Amino acid sequence: MNGTVTLVGAGPGDPELLTLKAVRAIGRATVLLVDDLVNDEVLAFAAPGARIVQVGKRGGCQSTPQAFIDKLMAAEALKGETVVRLKGGDPFIFGRGGEEAERLRAQGIAVEVVNGITAGLAAATSLGVPLTHREHAHGVIFVTAHARADGEPLDWYALATAAAQGLTLVIYMGVTSIDALQSGLRRGLPGATPAAVVQYASLPQQRQLVCSLEALAASVRAERIGSPAIVIVGDVLRGVQTLSLTRAAAHTA
Ligand code: SAH
Repeated sequence: MNGTVTLVGAGPGDPELLTLKAVRAIGRATVLLVDDLVNDEVLAFAAPGARIVQVGKRGGCQSTPQAFIDKLMAAEALKGETVVRLKGGDPFIFGRGGEEAERLRAQGIAVEVVNGITAGLAAATSLGVPLTHREHAHGVIFVTAHARADGEPLDWYALATAAAQGLTLVIYMGVTSIDALQSGLRRGLPGATPAAVVQYASLPQQRQLVCSLEALAASVRAERIGSPAIVIVGDVLRGVQTLSLTRAAAHTA
């Protein structure tokens, strides 16, 4: 009989942010494929004999090719194994979970998905900031700064316009292109718009800065904030800005 694959969201890092469903799925797995942004501490919930395969990349190492991961998951499931694919945050938020599920289902393999707390939520909460607020923001946009699959560049102006109308922007994978992000958003937003960057949200090594949009790229460089990080832009950050949670220069003159 075929086994199954469960795509499990491991949350942003803090193991306490795992769901009960995730803990149970990890405990039942006979094979676990673990992504790079998953905190190894969650593997404490794995069964003693489970096979753990690290398929991530960090520290300049080559990542495991996606095709290899797909093949391994399918092969193990077809052998009858209970496969858990552990992904950072939520599997269906910028995690290629959708593509993986489609390919497995096309081979007749049953796929389940367990939600995780996505990094954008953890980043905002770690600053004490609500992503929506009846007075400041009536919605939130989760967006990746990475180029789209069709090669079209991101429409920063459209995002800025949305933010100007009261939507909080939560930007994944934004720090490596922070200059383009800042100048793109500045086309539709005032320089004084509050912005924040949270690196390693929910983990002991978390770092954050809060500044104006105008000062964003310079602050990221000055503080040497790198990936993985979430950029948040919007008026919901106003209270945080005055609390000055950051060591970075908050404003340009
Ligand atoms: N599926 C994941 C996102 C994968 S894309 C989720 O739902 O969170 C990878 C990006 O997520 C990183 O480049 C970074 O922008 C963000 N990210 C993941 N974990 C993070 C963390 N602990 N702190 C800040 N950003 C994080």
